[in-house]
Amino acid sequence: MDKLAIHGGTPVRETPIAYSRQYIDDADIAAVTQALRSDFLTCGPRLPALERRLEAVTGAAHAVAVANGTAALHAALYAAGVGPGDEVITTPMTFAASANAALYLGARPVFADIDPGHWNICPRAVERAVTPRTKAVVAVDYTGQAAPLEPLLDICRGRGLALVEDAAHSLGTRYNGQPVGSVADFTTFSFHPVKTVTCGEGGAVTVNDSAPAERLRGFRAHGVTRDKALLQGGDGAAWWYEQQDLGCNYRLTDIQAALLISQLDKLEAFAVRRNNIVSRYRKAFAQLPQVIPQGEVAGSESVYHLFVLRLDLESLTAGRRQVFDALFAENILCNVHYIPVYYHPYYQGLGYQRGLCPNAERLYEQILSLPLYPAMTDADVDDVILAVKKVLGHYAK
Ligand SMILES: *Cc1c(COP(=O)(O)O)cnc(C)c1O
Repeated sequence: MDKLAIHGGTPVRETPIAYSRQYIDDADIAAVTQALRSDFLTCGPRLPALERRLEAVTGAAHAVAVANGTAALHAALYAAGVGPGDEVITTPMTFAASANAALYLGARPVFADIDPGHWNICPRAVERAVTPRTKAVVAVDYTGQAAPLEPLLDICRGRGLALVEDAAHSLGTRYNGQPVGSVADFTTFSFHPVKTVTCGEGGAVTVNDSAPAERLRGFRAHGVTRDKALLQGGDGAAWWYEQQDLGCNYRLTDIQAALLISQLDKLEAFAVRRNNIVSRYRKAFAQLPQVIPQGEVAGSESVYHLFVLRLDLESLTAGRRQVFDALFAENILCNVHYIPVYYHPYYQGLGYQRGLCPNAERLYEQILSLPLYPAMTDADVDDVILAVKKVLGHYAK
């Protein structure tokens, strides 16, 4: 094999390739321009239009669009009634926002370990983590595979817990034939540029019942209501509105809604391309003894957000750090998803200790995320495969 770029050899690619990036076309730009020329930059007609569209895509009865995926998690836990002293069970193998949402409400995140096969939260670990204080479970559709929703719903239903599905990775995924968004009690989405569809920053919560949908809408807009049937005072005055609860300003603008509607026109094509790239990676790495494949969650027909390469460190002379740095030098800008949430100094300061979730900690030592996004060309995909083979070949035992 050629000399590694990290040792002074020629990199596989001349130009760096990132692990993810947005796909914006002329239709997206036209949609945003139209919104900018319209009467409403926010609180206009594009927001409900987006929400109806999200309902159609997810099969949920109600979609409430918010400012970002973190706001969606915060709003979902609020609407689920989570408050001070409560516990919320979640996975450490996620972006910190999944756990932070509990902290915003004065609740305590409790970390349940992942399944060592598919790397999503393990229902048996969730069951063991339930206490009388548990109020909700936040399951994350890690890499785009739905969490094991049926076993999780069984656990939650039997105990009166809310199941919140953090579907930041999994728009378009189906579980037992049903689109993600209509299965759990609350499903949250993120529309950050690395995610499947984007509007810069954006998020949404989907629910099937109207009462939580109303709570979500109130929370998105300061806890303020103008609904005549709910007002306590004002004597019918036209200007009157009431803040009846403490909410936030988590609104999504009409500019963003316009972009997202246009992006959703491409969801199907994005999904096909993402999964096509994943298949090419899987096929290319199937014969490499240094790679441990991700297992599949039963019932999940996944649209992949991440391709996580898990290294069998026993069969390598290098650790993940060296492999990562070597790929970087080849101009493959990989990433790591995720540092276990409770490793962060903030969480350590709250008293969480390493060792809590051994399967997640072991996985973390072995993983890196390869580039995966629809705008990648086949040549880009081939470069990534070549670089992985070059680097793993070099460090193979
Ligand atoms: C991206 C992401 C979030 C946060 O979404 P933002 O829109 O960036 O706030 C939450 N959870 C997971 C699993 C994510 O990947």
